[in-house]
Amino acid sequence: VCPTGIDIRDGLQYECITCAACVDACDQVMARIGRPRGLIDYTTENTLNGRRSRVLRPRLIGYGLVMVLMMGWFAAGLVQRVPLQVDVLRDRNQLYRLTADGRIENSYRLEILNKDQQSHDYRLSLEAPAGLTLVQGNPTFTLAGGEHRSLPVTVSGDPYAGEVHSATVRFRVRSSEPRSTMETTHEARFIAP
Ligand code: SF4
Repeated sequence: VCPTGIDIRDGLQYECITCAACVDACDQVMARIGRPRGLIDYTTENTLNGRRSRVLRPRLIGYGLVMVLMMGWFAAGLVQRVPLQVDVLRDRNQLYRLTADGRIENSYRLEILNKDQQSHDYRLSLEAPAGLTLVQGNPTFTLAGGEHRSLPVTVSGDPYAGEVHSATVRFRVRSSEPRSTMETTHEARFIAP
């Protein structure tokens, strides 16, 4: 009956998939010929030697604790999951450009994905050192459930403001709906000559 072709009379072998078909088949044959069942069985060495078998062994307790920790970690991940994904890609063709009024501009593309089933209203804002601003202001937009949007944005800086050179900027996308905590932030770099 063994699906992996093991002869169980040679003892437990690594090919065994613990399906217990041999245990059932052996018990049926032993019952038919009037002999005691349990010739093939899953048991412990203690039981075979007539001693009490301990259920709560240190290894079992350890596995239980690891399981509880993993389930807690998984549940915490589910609770803290933000159904919004933002990736920021720099314009690779041009590190920066100078405008006619003497300012420096960097261009980025924001890849925004609403991972929720519902549509949501969002607002984009910039966290950056003084002197750096979003050219588009703080744009608002709506994404349907599961919708992805590619949003080109430009950050403008005054080259005479000392902190704009190779500054870290953060693009923050947050739901503009009341009581919503849905928001995510992505870091990028502003490059100036
Ligand atoms: S439990 Fe028995 S029948 Fe099942 S794979 Fe192992 S040896 Fe074969």
